[in-house]
Amino acid sequence: MTANVFTDDFDFENRIVDTSEIREDTFDNDNPLRPKTFDDYIGQEKAKENLKVYIEAAKLRGEPLDHVLLYGPPGLGKTTLSAIIANELGVNIRITSGPAIEKPGDLAALLTNLNPGDVLFIDEIHRMSRSVEEILYPSMEDFAIDIITGKGQMAASYHLPLPKFTLVGATTRAGQLSAPLRDRFGVVLRLELYTTEELAQIITRSAGILGIPIEHEGAMELASRSRGTPRIANRFLKRVRDFAQVMSDGVITYEVAKTALDRLEVDSLGLDGNDRRMLSAMIKNYGGGPVGLDTIAAAIGEEAVTIEDVYEPYLMQIGFISRTPRGRCVTPLAYEHLGLKAPGDLGSGSLQPTLFED
Ligand code: ADP
Repeated sequence: MTANVFTDDFDFENRIVDTSEIREDTFDNDNPLRPKTFDDYIGQEKAKENLKVYIEAAKLRGEPLDHVLLYGPPGLGKTTLSAIIANELGVNIRITSGPAIEKPGDLAALLTNLNPGDVLFIDEIHRMSRSVEEILYPSMEDFAIDIITGKGQMAASYHLPLPKFTLVGATTRAGQLSAPLRDRFGVVLRLELYTTEELAQIITRSAGILGIPIEHEGAMELASRSRGTPRIANRFLKRVRDFAQVMSDGVITYEVAKTALDRLEVDSLGLDGNDRRMLSAMIKNYGGGPVGLDTIAAAIGEEAVTIEDVYEPYLMQIGFISRTPRGRCVTPLAYEHLGLKAPGDLGSGSLQPTLFED
């Protein structure tokens, strides 16, 4: 995989391994690939088992479920899980996101329109403004908000009771949540990157729903390049279907999967041009690190948050990058994968791969 290492022709806009939502997989109930029950939701066993207990207990007590915080990289199934929670509770779900709630009044309108027991899902909850956050606290704790109308002498304050609801918050970065907000979630669950076997199951299930014939080896090949992320796995399936149509009567075999993803420049571990470009910039310009996040971001013309949320979790999971107090380092494993010779000494203590931190 040395061929593309030092080239600059990468297409940031159309990155096939992009984990952000695009139109074909945004939330709507018509997305047939989105699991609707725990049984269809593959993997994340720990989170699932815990949630099942909490949901059952809440139902037995006839009370709303405690507020739930889901965190982990994009595309792992946080939105999907929140809809399943509502479904299993037998209540409605309202979906919004931190940046979409611009003013406290927007949140008040959302909250007052809920029915008792409903789920309010706030995606990217770490991006909520301070002023909105401040009215969220009492809503979560006391199920009431104080609304102030008018100004000066004419100002009046109303205490407005709310229906008891469950807030499900999702974030890619739990560490950025303010402590008072984090403390108000009774249930905090971290979603993990999926194993190849789990992704192969997801791909096989999706292929069944879409009527795409796929062989087990084909599903495994797509899975092993999907960066532990169901959203990417489903996207690959849709793209590779076209290759299958032309190459092998529509059946996704190992050969078809391999050829198609090679053509899409996704390598055997799921790295695309952007990953290789980032690693090579770190190697070429900074001797493999340690190098600071902002410096990497500037070197490859990408946002620092994108690198942290999207590139790094997987590169760290496979042990290609390590985080040290002095910055990020490329590990010898990554050099090897890129077909490059690792320098003899990368600095002590810098080679230990770590799982993503908040
Ligand atoms: P997030 O909210 O974490 O960004 P989503 O819930 O939107 O991720 O999931 C992205 C897509 O991946 C969904 O459309 C769904 O089809 C698929 N998906 C996610 N998790 C699972 C899972 N556990 N089993 C099957 N499909 C899943």
